[in-house]
Amino acid sequence: MTGPVLALNDARKSYGSNEALKGVSLDIAPGEIVGLLGPNGAGKSTLFQIASGLFAPDGGEVRLFGMSYSDRASDILKRLGVVFQSRSLDLDMSVRANLKFHGNLFGLSGEALKQRIDDAARLFEVTDLIDKPVRTLSGGNQRRIEIVRALLNDPGLLLMDEPSTGLDPTTRKLLGRHIRAVRDERNVSILWATHLVEEVEHADRIALIVAGRIIRTGTPAEIMAAAGTDNLTDAYIALTGTKPEVALAAE
Ligand code: ADP
Repeated sequence: MTGPVLALNDARKSYGSNEALKGVSLDIAPGEIVGLLGPNGAGKSTLFQIASGLFAPDGGEVRLFGMSYSDRASDILKRLGVVFQSRSLDLDMSVRANLKFHGNLFGLSGEALKQRIDDAARLFEVTDLIDKPVRTLSGGNQRRIEIVRALLNDPGLLLMDEPSTGLDPTTRKLLGRHIRAVRDERNVSILWATHLVEEVEHADRIALIVAGRIIRTGTPAEIMAAAGTDNLTDAYIALTGTKPEVALAAE
């Protein structure tokens, strides 16, 4: 397709009197990696939940692949990959059993499913983990498996909400490398929500979100130019008025 894979137009969402999204517009092009960057409480998860169809916005429009959740939800979900913030693998099953179950939900089975699992596992360099129980995997490896799982239906758009939470810096870097490899090989679009500046350095475009508003979008170079700085951290401070948060490695 040539139009945007995700188009938010003036999307609004409130929790009671708390306006979490105050009219957000954002387009993601095919094959584009967009980093949604902002401090905690900025509205990233709310935007993510609207984009993944978990709830409808109070106002504005959300279209994925040119379709709306109100009448084409199942057609959208067939083409969407989602990685939620909280871990969601069954710890007592093997990696392969987790992946097979998810593939079956998408109507995949037999040799075709095995091929999908092998291809996605190769991209994420987790082939040697496939037959292990999930419980024995590190947090970083579980995250990689969750992304492999999200790729099984060969999505046109991959949504990831703070996928590196709790991971150490080396694993976080590896995640970034793998995500770019996926995009390069499959031309999948990616929305990566994060509060860490370093994670959007290699995005094609950054959307800066503060207090429910996207205050600026642009390539990393454009964001730095707009702030008159030569690095993204200073640009973030200048444009958002907040200090960047540092990663807490809990693994
Ligand atoms: P982020 O993901 O950037 O941390 P969120 O989308 O989680 O931001 O939150 C945006 C705002 O909405 C915050 O003020 C938060 O407290 C509020 N919020 C988020 N989820 C809920 C909820 N389920 N009920 C009430 N308020 C919420």
